[in-house]
Amino acid sequence: RDELMQTRLQTLNPRQREAVTYINGPCLVLAGAGSGKTSVITTKIAYLIRECGMPARRIAAVTFTNKAAREMKERVGKMLPGKLGHGLTVSTFHTLGLNIIKAELKVLGYRSGFSLFDPEDAKALLRDLMHKDAAVDADQINRVQHQISQWKNDLVTPQQALSHAEDQDQDYAARLYEAYVRHLKAYNAVDFDDLIYLPAVLFEREPEVLARWRKRIHYMLVDEYQDTNSSQYRLVRLLMAERETFTVVGDDDQSIYAWRGARPENLEQLQDDFRSLKVIKLEQNYRSTAVILKAANTLIANNPHVYEKTLWSEMGRGDDIRVIVNRNEEVEAERVASEILTRRLKLSAKWKDFAVLYRGNFQARLLEIKLQHYQIPYKLSGGTSFFSRNEIRDAMAYLRLLINPADDNAFLRIVNVPRREIGPTTIEKLANYATERQVSLYDASCELGLQELLPEKALFRLARFNHLIADVRKRMDQGDALAAIRSLFQEIDYEGWLYQNASAPIVAEKRMANVWTLIDQLERSMQRNDEGDDDGSEETDDVEAAISRLVLRDIMEQQQEEDDTDKVQLLTLHASKGLEYPHVYIMGLEEDLLPHRNAIEAGTIEEERRLAYVGITRARQTLTMTLARQRKAFGEMLNCTPSRFLDELPEDDISWEGRPDKEDPEKKRERGMDAIAGLKALLQ
Ligand code: ATP
Ligand code: MG
Repeated sequence: RDELMQTRLQTLNPRQREAVTYINGPCLVLAGAGSGKTSVITTKIAYLIRECGMPARRIAAVTFTNKAAREMKERVGKMLPGKLGHGLTVSTFHTLGLNIIKAELKVLGYRSGFSLFDPEDAKALLRDLMHKDAAVDADQINRVQHQISQWKNDLVTPQQALSHAEDQDQDYAARLYEAYVRHLKAYNAVDFDDLIYLPAVLFEREPEVLARWRKRIHYMLVDEYQDTNSSQYRLVRLLMAERETFTVVGDDDQSIYAWRGARPENLEQLQDDFRSLKVIKLEQNYRSTAVILKAANTLIANNPHVYEKTLWSEMGRGDDIRVIVNRNEEVEAERVASEILTRRLKLSAKWKDFAVLYRGNFQARLLEIKLQHYQIPYKLSGGTSFFSRNEIRDAMAYLRLLINPADDNAFLRIVNVPRREIGPTTIEKLANYATERQVSLYDASCELGLQELLPEKALFRLARFNHLIADVRKRMDQGDALAAIRSLFQEIDYEGWLYQNASAPIVAEKRMANVWTLIDQLERSMQRNDEGDDDGSEETDDVEAAISRLVLRDIMEQQQEEDDTDKVQLLTLHASKGLEYPHVYIMGLEEDLLPHRNAIEAGTIEEERRLAYVGITRARQTLTMTLARQRKAFGEMLNCTPSRFLDELPEDDISWEGRPDKEDPEKKRERGMDAIAGLKALLQ
């Protein structure tokens, strides 16, 4: 008997146990926040391996964010010591897709060393394509980009998009979609949505490929199922259609990615597609105090519901929820920082017991300043992450070009960085020539045909750049790839370039250090294969794979280190999904911020309410919400109205600080008139 497994099963409640031990058919766990859905997944992985004897490499568990995947991996790891967990896939959907693409490059018609375009690269490509037609503004590009992304998420091919176009705009977008896909292919590149789209389409079109993957994955587990989009669902469905062995867990009240194509209806679709689906509901919450749970339940009751759920908790009543009204955003940030400082001592808590959540990344800026002022260690997830720094984008472009010389965007970014006197005219001529010849910019840059188009100096400079890259590529092939990469940055004197461009030497120093950190990370990533894409085969991880993983992580806006050292956690409400903290602060409970103005205008308040629900249910012991009466936006001080969501919380469990008087509107108007009259009098 497996003692550890038995003990573990004993800690579960009967319904959770049922979900873990039901293995013969499809299983859906539909339950509210903190009810142990993720725990069911992690325990079930261990159960499948330890109790049912399923090899770890036959199991794939997927979730949404890298952070959640890491957490899951950690929890599973504890139950699978030694080699038991070898070959297990615990990753994000996108990493799983990346691995499928990597394994099926040839069938997909890609050459090895493909590039992963981040949204900025994709936008640059679209901009190029659109400028061919007319002058376009950023808004238009964004709209088309969003539309293309939606099509891919819904598995609509360019041909289908074209034939279904209903008006001129759609027709235009569909034609761009076609050109965009064609160009990506020519660059030997894929974009973020392709990571799911390509495998799904491939599985549909190539039965042998699908059969191969069905042999490879026997059991799938999906966390946060409510946020899967059509293509992700299709991927799961295709893989699992025969065996019907999977477990998905989700909570329709936590669906917060509709704007990115998520389809909560996939929950219902599942019942239609898999008639033998077993649905299990969990009702006990193990995370939060009664007060926090009641607040969450009361708030979400304002949304219409397909599935009724009741959540209860035995964690005791707990403290009131505090709502703190501040004069302005600066006072708000100051207040949160000083609160954390004092409460940490009072509660003898750790820094990492505190999380501050907000709607938009910009809200973190002031908070960072205040936290630094008090010397409070913190970790900011997402936002202006490591990867959006210029020096890192340069370095990434070098890496990308090294593994895929056809990556024109990478070429363009660094051909003149550091300065090589290769100007826009040269680039334009080169680009025209490359288009005509149907080759990449890199390949074109050393072709003889250029001689007729460019002056000798320009030719020479281009050729020199070409040789630089070619030489490093050769050295990478022959021996120590990392050493070759490191010496490249020295040869081009990237550091000197940083010094020339930085406002102060210390800034340049820091930037150069960032580049070395990136390369160290690359090295670690090659050694550890740490993104959960260990596909069971024993092949050693090469630099190409490691670089594409870095790009993927970059896109998913994760920070460089995976340190779980003792730091206050700063993250957006979106990024907080699935996580939990003893003490949670939610900032900016104001109309136009939460709910966000765009959502108010678009009439998608329900999704904002779910977002607030996600935030509230992250808290285990205490929850504090803050807001500002005034906030600077577009260089102006604006008056803020408290969020409608505050009115939807149970009044008795809330203690306000500085609550604005509930004036009747008539009085307020009068007071306003008085003020205007007073002002007029003053001016006269
Ligand atoms: P979310 O919807 O926010 O993702 P969830 O349903 O995935 O939440 P978990 O994160 O799995 O919930 O569990 C919430 C907390 O409850 C965790 O700290 C977990 O360890 C604990 N927990 C889950 N099940 C039990 C149980 N049977 N006994 C004690 N604690 C439990
Ligand atoms: Mg969870």
